[in-house]
Order: sequence, then structure tokens, then C-alpha cells
Amino acid sequence: MNDYMIYRLALKNGMKPPEKKKPGKIARFSKKRQRANREYAEKSRPLWIGKHCAISAPGCTGTAQGIHHKKGKSSIELLLDERYWIPACNHCNTWCEIFPAEAEKEGFKISRLKK
Ligand SMILES: [Zn+2]
Repeated sequence: MNDYMIYRLALKNGMKPPEKKKPGKIARFSKKRQRANREYAEKSRPLWIGKHCAISAPGCTGTAQGIHHKKGKSSIELLLDERYWIPACNHCNTWCEIFPAEAEKEGFKISRLKK
């Protein structure tokens, strides 16, 4: 019997129809990455809170709002590697993504492929 038939039968018998099963949530990050993200958040906070944006791209809002990752954060090693951290405002962080060539020229971006 399919779900619809079970539902109809339940109604007919004056029973509460069974609740529809909700699809399971898919985790955005693996457990390992979740732990790394937490570690990163704790470690990085003092490095940008109250600091000036170190990128100062055109349109910079001045105050750092987070960390820009010179080498991206595609791996846990890169996420946590403080050598590649730059305090940055959200605007400049986005600017580096939109203008990767300029960002690289200014030293705010290192290609992941380069050693
Ligand atoms: Zn900025």
C-alpha cells in the first residue's frame, strides 16, 4: 500500500493520518570540518575584531569584519593556516573574489596551485 492509500484508510477509520516523513537534513560540513570551523572561529576572532581592513580595495568600508584567506580555505590546513590570514571587511573579501588578478598583484591572493 502506498502512502496515499494509508492516508485515505486512516481518514476513513477516523484515525489521525500518519505524519509525512520529513526528508533528512544534509549536513553542510563534515563533522571534521565543523570542528575545524569552530577552532578557526575562536582563533581568528581576536585577529580581526576592532582591526582595520588590511586590504583597502576601492570601496573599502574600513573596519575588518572577518578574515580573508589569501590561499582560500578549500582544505582544513588552509583554513587554519594563519600565514595566509588577512583581516578584511566583507567588501574587500568579495573584491578579492571578483578581481582575483588584481588581488594577486596586490599580494592579497596566492594561487592554490602555486607552492
Ligand atoms: Zn576593506
